[in-house]
Amino acid sequence: MRDAEFVRRWLLAMAASVDQEADRLTELDSAIGDADHGVNMRRGFTAVAQSLAAEPPQTPGAVLTTAGRQLISKVGGASGPLYGTLLRATGKALGEAPRVSDAELREALATGVAAVAKLGGAAPGDKTMIDTLTPAVEALTDGYAAARTAAEEGALATVPLRARKGRASYLGERSVGHQDPGATSAALLVAALARTAAE
Ligand code: ADP
Ligand code: MG
Ligand code: MG
Repeated sequence: MRDAEFVRRWLLAMAASVDQEADRLTELDSAIGDADHGVNMRRGFTAVAQSLAAEPPQTPGAVLTTAGRQLISKVGGASGPLYGTLLRATGKALGEAPRVSDAELREALATGVAAVAKLGGAAPGDKTMIDTLTPAVEALTDGYAAARTAAEEGALATVPLRARKGRASYLGERSVGHQDPGATSAALLVAALARTAAE
């Protein structure tokens, strides 16, 4: 069973990872976007880490909804509302249970990913974070390590795609040949979960 502390450690691991990889995320976004994805993610997850330290929520669901609210209010770019919705919808799906099973967490994450797809209107193959999150949640039935591998493969698989959503879609054919920044940061989120589960 997973408690609030587990989810908190996951999101803190993500904050550390984003901090470390911010330059790479911004570099990817400079090729097919507006060169701010690393800055956006760092600002958002720094706020998440601060809010979780100030007043640690007591349930897995509350940790996720608190983090999601921070991302929505602190990040100006598209990724803020999208990641914020992912965490908030996942948290809402978990409800107020003090501990949740891995199966319940997986189900909740599937709900969260569906909320992102609904908000952004993106489907797999559109060259967005959905290309990482959808296969990752599917692979979660085989465990956290499998999800991490599926996420990393999903992010890499965005390279040959033509973007159909977000800023990169303005480039049309010129978006081909570059890895999507949001798909890359989504793989960091799944990797942070897998590392936390393996601790
Ligand atoms: P912005 O594009 O506003 O500068 P960011 O650079 O922080 O925001 O985030 C860009 C990432 O957001 C993209 O790489 C993509 O993965 C994701 N994204 C953008 N639009 C959508 C959408 N409609 N649905 C899903 N993901 C999206
Ligand atoms: Mg950007
Ligand atoms: Mg921007």
